[in-house]
Amino acid sequence: MTRTGPFVVSVIEVQRALGTQRADEVHGQLGGLAITDAEVPPTADIVADVLLESTAGNEVTVTGSLRAPYRATCRRCLGPVEGQLEVDLREVFEAHPVEGETYLLTRDWLDLEPMVRDALVLALPVAPLCGPDCPGPDPGSFPVTVEEGPGDPGPGSHAAADDAAESGATRDPRWAALDGLRLD
Ligand SMILES: [Zn+2]
Repeated sequence: MTRTGPFVVSVIEVQRALGTQRADEVHGQLGGLAITDAEVPPTADIVADVLLESTAGNEVTVTGSLRAPYRATCRRCLGPVEGQLEVDLREVFEAHPVEGETYLLTRDWLDLEPMVRDALVLALPVAPLCGPDCPGPDPGSFPVTVEEGPGDPGPGSHAAADDAAESGATRDPRWAALDGLRLD
């Protein structure tokens, strides 16, 4: 069984004897990895510098590091943020991987791609800042109070007003019937 992809590496040699090591550097593009306000761009070159080692239990342990550029949106000023992700790796590959813990290993190859994706998504900044001293939105460029100023009651208030109108102005006909009974 063969497999192709930028992050597929051969493990034939490594698995010949326990403790065998092999260093490898692989790189490629993964079509973009994104979270809400940050991403590794689709055309970014992702580099994995790894050491493969056959370890007890017919496993292969991968250690090393990942490098990839990222871009993001500053959470305060909404300006562009760019940077470099550097991620340390230490993961186990085995024939019957445990989801969320280990990755798939075959007799001939392992594919680093799922590990690369997981590691980079976790490394992306969830609250990016263009710099530690970002002053926040520039009122001239981002008049953030226009949409929900004090003069606009907002959609929530409208809904509340509608509820009040229904209970007050529209009378339930069942109450009218009750009034009739009392009059008798
Ligand atoms: Zn900023």
